[in-house]
Amino acid sequence: MSEKSSIEWTDSSWNPIRGCTKISPGCTHCYAETFAERFRGVPGHPYEQGFDLRLIPGKLAEPFHWKVPSRIFVNSMSDLFHEGVPDSYIDAVYGVMQDASWHTYQVLTKRSGRMRDALQDRLRSAALEPHIWWGVSVENRAHGLPRIDHLRDAPAGLRFLSVEPLLEDLGRVNLEGIGWVIVGGESGAGARRLDADWVRSLRDQCRDAGVPFFFKQWGGTRKKLAGRELDGRTHDEMPPWGGAAVMSPEGRREAIARVDRQIAGV
Ligand code: SF4
Repeated sequence: MSEKSSIEWTDSSWNPIRGCTKISPGCTHCYAETFAERFRGVPGHPYEQGFDLRLIPGKLAEPFHWKVPSRIFVNSMSDLFHEGVPDSYIDAVYGVMQDASWHTYQVLTKRSGRMRDALQDRLRSAALEPHIWWGVSVENRAHGLPRIDHLRDAPAGLRFLSVEPLLEDLGRVNLEGIGWVIVGGESGAGARRLDADWVRSLRDQCRDAGVPFFFKQWGGTRKKLAGRELDGRTHDEMPPWGGAAVMSPEGRREAIARVDRQIAGV
């Protein structure tokens, strides 16, 4: 069974890395940190070491175990392109995504420069795989808009933006080459304000540019109550997804053994 996600725009999460460090204002109330730190020091718990960055090679082969094609959020509890993750490990994660191609992967980062460099270079030959979507987080103009330029500079089958938590009006956004936009407000204690006009602006720009628009949530301290309707309706557009045929049981067994050998360094 895959790890089911409560995030509205995905089915499951896959975390071959745990933990991260903050890099910009969007990280201030990082949900992953809050969750992970709750279990720091609990013996045997996956987050016994809190939010410290750790590679989890034992999780690498998971997508081969999941038979049902799913949309998979890659590293919902970390950032694949964190400076502490070696290139060789990023390549191993990539190798699994490439081979377990009946799933659709959603890779989201705030380290957009490193992602761009990898897609332009080591991962270039396969960056255009249609079942792997590459995205950046955008919370404000100063930190978020340069990430969109990095993303546009990278070869990618599908590029997407996660504009969450949206912290200010982004103004005119260049959506050229962007295939999907998700927008949402911050939730939980201390959640920062989301203005409806900031969201409307992005919705209208997406409509004019023909880009699917997904409004995830208003957020706030009472997220359920605030809901996810904008101007009387939900906005759930997303690009069509669906990968290759599911690998045979024998093929999956072999792939898992291959990853296990890779982990063991054979
Ligand atoms: S980059 Fe993402 S996972 Fe890392 S601290 Fe920031 S919000 Fe959390």
